Amino acid sequence: MSSATPQTRPLLVMKFGGTSVGSAERIRRVAEIIRGGLDERQLVIVTSAVAGVTDKLVQAAVAASRGLEEEWRTIAEELAHQHRAMVGTLLPAAEQPALLHRVEQEIAQVEKLCAGFSLVRETTPRAMDVLASTGEVLAADLLAAVLQANGSQAVPLDAAHLIITDDKFGNATPLLDETTDRVRQQLFPLLAQGLIPVVTGFRAATPEGAVTTLGRGGSDYSATILGAALDAAEVWIWTDVDGVMTADPRAVPEAHLLSEVAYGEILELSFFGAKVLQPQAIRPVMSKQIPLHIKNTMNPGGQGTRICQSVSNSRPGVRAITSVSQASMLTVNGKHTLSFPQLASRLFGALEQEKVATLIVTQSSAENVISFAIHSLDEARIRERLEKLFELERLHGYMEPLEVLSNVGVVVAVGENMKGTPGIAGRLFGALGRRGINVIAIAQGSSELSISFAVRSADVDEAVRAVHAEFRP
Ligand code: ASP
Ligand code: MG
Repeated sequence: MSSATPQTRPLLVMKFGGTSVGSAERIRRVAEIIRGGLDERQLVIVTSAVAGVTDKLVQAAVAASRGLEEEWRTIAEELAHQHRAMVGTLLPAAEQPALLHRVEQEIAQVEKLCAGFSLVRETTPRAMDVLASTGEVLAADLLAAVLQANGSQAVPLDAAHLIITDDKFGNATPLLDETTDRVRQQLFPLLAQGLIPVVTGFRAATPEGAVTTLGRGGSDYSATILGAALDAAEVWIWTDVDGVMTADPRAVPEAHLLSEVAYGEILELSFFGAKVLQPQAIRPVMSKQIPLHIKNTMNPGGQGTRICQSVSNSRPGVRAITSVSQASMLTVNGKHTLSFPQLASRLFGALEQEKVATLIVTQSSAENVISFAIHSLDEARIRERLEKLFELERLHGYMEPLEVLSNVGVVVAVGENMKGTPGIAGRLFGALGRRGINVIAIAQGSSELSISFAVRSADVDEAVRAVHAEFRP
C-alpha cells in the first residue's frame, strides 16, 4: 500500500534534541540550520521537548499523585510561562496569538490530567504518556511557527498520527509495517508540495489511537523510525556534543572525536552508557543501512560523527572505550544439586521479569556458578527478588547464599576490527596488569565487537586510560 517515493532531492531527517531547542536563541539557530539544509535536500524535522520540560511534566504528575496541588500547579504555570516567553521572543506580534492559544490549550490539558491524578492519588501509564509528551507538541508547534515566520513552509505534525506502536505505555515498540504505510501516506504528499514536516519526537500511538511514548530520550528513535519508513538518504541527530568520542574526555584527556563509527560499535557504546544516542534508535537505520550523523547545534560547521555499516580503513584494535562506574556484581552458586541449565533458566527468567539490564554475564558450568553485573540502582530490587526465588534451596543447603559485590564498574572496549585479530585481549589485560588493576570478571561478545570487564568502581577511570593508552584509537 506504500506510496511511491516522490522526492527529487535526497531526503534528510533532522532531529533536534532538548538542549538544541533549549532557549529562544537556540531555536533561532535551529531555524538557521534548517534553512541552510533546504537547498540541496528535502527535510523532515523531528524535535524533542525543550530541555528539562519532560522532567518537569513527570515531576508534576508525581506531585499530583501525592496530592501536592501547589507543586503541580506551580510547575504547570512555569511551563506555561517558559513557552509564552519563547513565543514572545521568537514570533512577530501578528503570529503570537495563535501560538499562545496553543500553549494555553496544552497547559490546560496538563492541568486536567494532574487534577485527575490528584483525585485518584495515582498516575496511570496511559495518561502519563499523554502528559509526558506534551513538551514535544509544544516544541513542534513553536519550531514550525518560527520557520513559517521566516518564510519556510513548515507544518507541525503530531507523531501520534504517524508512528504506530504496541501498548507498552512509557516504552512502546513501533509496529514497523503499519508505521511505514502511515508515514509514507502522510508525509510524501506534504513533501511533494514543498512543505517541511516538523514532527513531535518521543510520541506515538497504538493502532486504536491511544498516545504512547518511545522511552526516555525516544526522539532519536522517532527520527530513525521516520528515516527508515521514508527510505531517507540520511538521518542527522543534532545534539549538544560534537559526536562520538574515543572515551569520556573527563577521564581521558587525549580522547578525541571519531569521524566514523559502525552501527555495531554504536550499539555497544550506547548500551553501556555513551549518551549520544538512545540505544533503540540504531536498529531502524541499521537494518536499512541508512547513515546516521551526530552533529552539534552549537558547532554546526564541525564534522560530527557518521555512523554507518562499516568504517573505511580502520586499524585493527579498540576504537572506543566506555564505562559504567556504578554497578554491582551478583553471584549465584547452585553447588552440585541444580543443573546448570536449571540454574540459568530460573535466574534469567527472574531477571527477564524484572526487566533488568545485565552489563556482564560470566559463568562456570563446572562449578555451577553464574555471575552478572547490573546497575547499582537495580541492586536492592534484584537481590530481594533472587533471595526469594532461591529461598527453599537455600534453606535446604542446596545453594550458597547470594553473593553481592557492590561498588563495581564495568569497562567496555569496542571495535569492529578486534574481530579475528589475535592478541587484542592479551594487550588489553596486559595494560591493566601493568597498572596494577585487578579484573573481577571478563566477557567478550560473541560478535567479537567488544570486550567488557568488571573492576572496582575506584579503578574505572584508570582502566579506561590504560586501554586508551595501549590502543591509541
Ligand atoms: N523529551 C523526551 C525526554 O526527555 C524525549 C527526548 O528528549 O528524546 O526523554
Ligand atoms: Mg530530552
